[in-house]
Amino acid sequence: MDSCLFCQIVAKKIPAAIIDEDAHLLAFHDIAPQAPIHVLIIPKEHISTLNDLEPTHTELMGKMIMKAQKIAAKLGIQEKGYRLTINCNRQGGQSVFHIHLHLLGGRQMHWPPG
Ligand code: 5GP
Ligand code: ZN
Repeated sequence: MDSCLFCQIVAKKIPAAIIDEDAHLLAFHDIAPQAPIHVLIIPKEHISTLNDLEPTHTELMGKMIMKAQKIAAKLGIQEKGYRLTINCNRQGGQSVFHIHLHLLGGRQMHWPPG
């Protein structure tokens, strides 16, 4: 989708610090990190929000979490811990409308998240 920032990153029309890529997923460092480690994991397919997921996306969403687990291990934060977040729509804090999984780590996380 031409108007979508993350589709442009998937198409390599906009640069990003990519740390992992496979046939279905792309992972790159967030441009405005909220923690020492802040990686975004996105499907290459354009899906706007959690509300747009279909049963056919079940495996894809599982792959996103498994990718986060792999990257957390690669970056050495699996034992200390990390947080995975998907924001949905405005009140959920979503600002880019191409679904993405935030992987946050490298510092103490707090609860409630605010
Ligand atoms: P959301 O608020 O939608 O859950 O998260 C969107 C994330 O995308 C934010 O953390 C924001 O910093 C990040 N972001 C926005 N524009 C860019 C960009 O051009 N490149 C990268 N790498 N991250 C971006
Ligand atoms: Zn998109």
